[in-house]
Amino acid sequence: MRKVFAFLIAVLFSVNAGAISFINDTEIESVVTEIIEPVANAAGIAPSRLHVFIVKDDEFNAFVMGGEDVYLYTGLLSKIKSPNALRAVVAHEMGHMLGGHMVQMAAAIEAEMRRAMLIQALGVGLMVAGGNPSLGAGVMAGASGVARQSLLSFSRDEERMADELGVNLMVRAGFNPNGFISVFEQMQKMTGPIESKVNPNAINHPLTAERLKNVRDKLAGKEIKNKVFATDDDKTISKYELVRAKLIGYLADTSQIKISYPYSDKSDAAIYARAIANMRNGNLAGAAVGTQTLISRQMQNPFFYELLGDLEYAYGHYDASCAAYEHAIELRPNSPQIETALAIVLTARDGPDDKIHAIELCKSAILQSPTPLAYWTLARAYSDDTARADWAMAEYYNLQNQHDKAVEYARRAKSHLIPDSPEYIKSDDILKQKH
Ligand SMILES: [Zn+2]
Repeated sequence: MRKVFAFLIAVLFSVNAGAISFINDTEIESVVTEIIEPVANAAGIAPSRLHVFIVKDDEFNAFVMGGEDVYLYTGLLSKIKSPNALRAVVAHEMGHMLGGHMVQMAAAIEAEMRRAMLIQALGVGLMVAGGNPSLGAGVMAGASGVARQSLLSFSRDEERMADELGVNLMVRAGFNPNGFISVFEQMQKMTGPIESKVNPNAINHPLTAERLKNVRDKLAGKEIKNKVFATDDDKTISKYELVRAKLIGYLADTSQIKISYPYSDKSDAAIYARAIANMRNGNLAGAAVGTQTLISRQMQNPFFYELLGDLEYAYGHYDASCAAYEHAIELRPNSPQIETALAIVLTARDGPDDKIHAIELCKSAILQSPTPLAYWTLARAYSDDTARADWAMAEYYNLQNQHDKAVEYARRAKSHLIPDSPEYIKSDDILKQKH
């Protein structure tokens, strides 16, 4: 949803060249993808091409780029209350895409995105980054603002059109477009006091009240009013609740977590958020109680075992941590972030064959989702093989757009690797890239 008080922000923010920071997390990415996929399909995006990026930024914002890349801000995900409201946000953004509003902006945004990209994991990834300046540099600062200032130039007509097209997409996808209404109502709550002071004729951006009225009128029309729509089942709602809880547990400050999830709230989501927050704050015993409660309630939920693995790692219990992650991967194969987490713990434990196993896990994770953390872990797992470790570090720096270092490591790797081995060829590819 374009910033509703964009007109104010445009004045307040000058150009900010901070790096955009992404969160990689199997649970968050997969649940969100599942929820928005029908709308993307209705917009003509094949499921295999849809790619969700989670932007670590407290803005209530989202955008679609390149036709099939959906960027959702953590500030939006942690606030949007239902799967259907999330679909409405994405439908609106796809409306901008279908309306051709992105044309001039695309090049500018793409240039910004290439400038610097930081990718962060949660759980063990976060703990490792915390103790590792090379991994965590800038990541924790999370300064974005990049997409923010590039994205403010939609006109009033374009916003109206994106809402219109978005509602149509929702209908075509078979979901109730009243998701728009809950989003606008929420935006009004957030910006009402500011908007009420604004003269709508003095700005180029539609006020939420106007958008809300337009969509309400459209929904009252007879072709929509009498339609029967799909509703989200409890399972989808519960999975979405857990995603929000995970984000809030990891990213919000303690006082905010207490407001969002008071102790009286005994839902799975509330326990999840509090367990994560306790782990973050070093209250491992508190986190352990919550995690065990969650596992006893949902024995088949892989992500509760992921949390147990994180927690045991925080305790320094490497065997128990490995067992928990292994169980999570059994319950949900193809979980690149959990595979990376297990590899981290295996390289830390360093028992017989642990590093060999860690190398396999990193390679599998990289095939599914190449992240700096997976390459960094791979380099650690290759500690007895300097040439391959150098290649992995070259990939690590390359992904972070630290080109000088990427070139330095790739050169060193090449000089020691067997010519035409896969790692040799990949190092060469890095050296051949135009920077
Ligand atoms: Zn918009």
